[in-house]
Amino acid sequence: MIYPWQTAQWQQFKQQLNQQRLPHAILMSGVEGLGQFALAEHMVAAVLCENFTEHHCGQCHSCQLLAAGTHPEHSVIKPEEVGKQIKIEQIRELKQKQTLTSTLSTWKTVIIEPADSMNISAYNSLLKLLEEPQDNTLLILISSHANKLPITILSRCQNYVLQAPLEEQALAWLKEQGQYEENELKQLLALSSQAPLSVLAMFDSGGVDYLEQIDQDFKAMLTGEINPVVRAKDWQNFDLELVFNYLQILIKSSVIKQLEHDNKRIWTTYDCIINTIKLLSSSHNLNKVLLIEQFMVSVMDSKTDKTRSFNSLF
Ligand SMILES: [Zn+2]
Repeated sequence: MIYPWQTAQWQQFKQQLNQQRLPHAILMSGVEGLGQFALAEHMVAAVLCENFTEHHCGQCHSCQLLAAGTHPEHSVIKPEEVGKQIKIEQIRELKQKQTLTSTLSTWKTVIIEPADSMNISAYNSLLKLLEEPQDNTLLILISSHANKLPITILSRCQNYVLQAPLEEQALAWLKEQGQYEENELKQLLALSSQAPLSVLAMFDSGGVDYLEQIDQDFKAMLTGEINPVVRAKDWQNFDLELVFNYLQILIKSSVIKQLEHDNKRIWTTYDCIINTIKLLSSSHNLNKVLLIEQFMVSVMDSKTDKTRSFNSLF
């Protein structure tokens, strides 16, 4: 499947395929939620199809096997459990499979996602595969954190950078998917780096309701009517990165009435949010409840200008 914002990459790929100058390895980068896997599958289908013209035909033996998920020359490498790393055994198995003679197609194809989720030995194993590519092999590595990939891997891939669509295009596409309210869509798009599929996923997980909860809690913090110990325990179950990005947007758009005429407090509160975002992204073994409590107390204290030092806890 090709999403409207992927047309340029698809055209580039098709041109390379038609001119028989496809690279052995493609790195598909860009923020999450742009449909990278769907595009990679579409590319693989094009390569394996027996009657490829503009797209794969969907009818031939190869297309049917691929659709059924049983194509012998195509491999998908993903972590065995969500959130875990891809194991070196999985890469070793792949390498072994790649050396076998094709039984069906002239091509062998592989999709690895997320390619940034491996340890060093798995990368080294993968590197060998990239260093000694066999003819008619296409490896597609998908990563939203390409900076985490070793340079040795990066340098052997052609980079296809997926760009998020402009707001107008994203809105038009999302409105075709369901009856969503434009303001809500704009807010969620801003929260998800303009990635339309992330917005759909947020709707699926009841994201809008939970942002309303954050809204209410934040207002209560500003008026000092919140119990940080109780609320911090609820907040620890939220996607904190999303929560604090959302708070940042709220402050920027000045939708919080309590802050309208208090410039100093806007900046103090903004600093609290930024500090929390920094801590979230820099530390691995954070005590989440403590961090949220500290944040709530600091926002409440900013009313009387006795904001505590954030970093005292860490
Ligand atoms: Zn076909």
